[in-house]
Amino acid sequence: TWVDFVSFFSSIIDRFEMAKDRNVSFRRQLPDKVIFVEIDEDKLTQVLDNIISNALKYSPEGGQITFKLKELDDKIEVSVRDQGLGIPKENIEKVFDRFYRVDKARTRRLGGTGLGLAIAKEMIAAHGGHIWARSVEGKGTAIIFTLPYDPEQKDDWS
Ligand code: ATP
Ligand code: MG
Repeated sequence: TWVDFVSFFSSIIDRFEMAKDRNVSFRRQLPDKVIFVEIDEDKLTQVLDNIISNALKYSPEGGQITFKLKELDDKIEVSVRDQGLGIPKENIEKVFDRFYRVDKARTRRLGGTGLGLAIAKEMIAAHGGHIWARSVEGKGTAIIFTLPYDPEQKDDWS
C-alpha cells in the first residue's frame, strides 16, 4: 500500500513518546510535506519498533534520540540516533546477524533474543532498501535505512 511515510513515521514516534517511562528526550527532523512510498505497513512497523526500542534500551538517563527522515533523488533515508554506549567497530555488521548480541553480559540484563535487527534487515531488503549502522563507542549509535522512492510518482496520473 501507498502511505505517506512522514505521518506513518510520526505516529510510530508518537506511540513511543507517549509510552516511554525513561528520561530520554525525542527530537524529530522530518520534512514538512508528504512523501508517498509503497510499503508493507505491518512489516515497516515491526522494523521501526525494534530500532526505536533498541535506541531506548541503550540510551543513558537524560539521553536524546533523534529521528530523521530525508528525501534523496530516488530513495528516502530514515535514521534513528541515540547517545548510548555504542557498538564496537568490529561488531557493527554482526548486529544484523541472527541471535548476535554485543557483549552477552551487558545485554542479558536488558533482555531480547538478538533477532530484531536480523528481521529488520530481511524486511528492508524485501522492500528494495538497505540498512546499516553507524556508531562511535561511548557516544552513540545510528541505525539508518533507505527505501526506494519515486518523486515523480505523485504526478503520474496517466
Ligand atoms: P530483540 O530485538 O530480539 O529483542 P536485541 O535487541 O538484543 O533483541 P537486535 O535488535 O537484533 O537484538 O540487536 C542486536 C544487538 O545489537 C543488541 O543485542 C545490541 O548488542 C546491539 N544493538 C542494537 N541496537 C543498539 C543500540 N542502539 N545501541 C547499542 N547497541 C545496540
Ligand atoms: Mg532489538
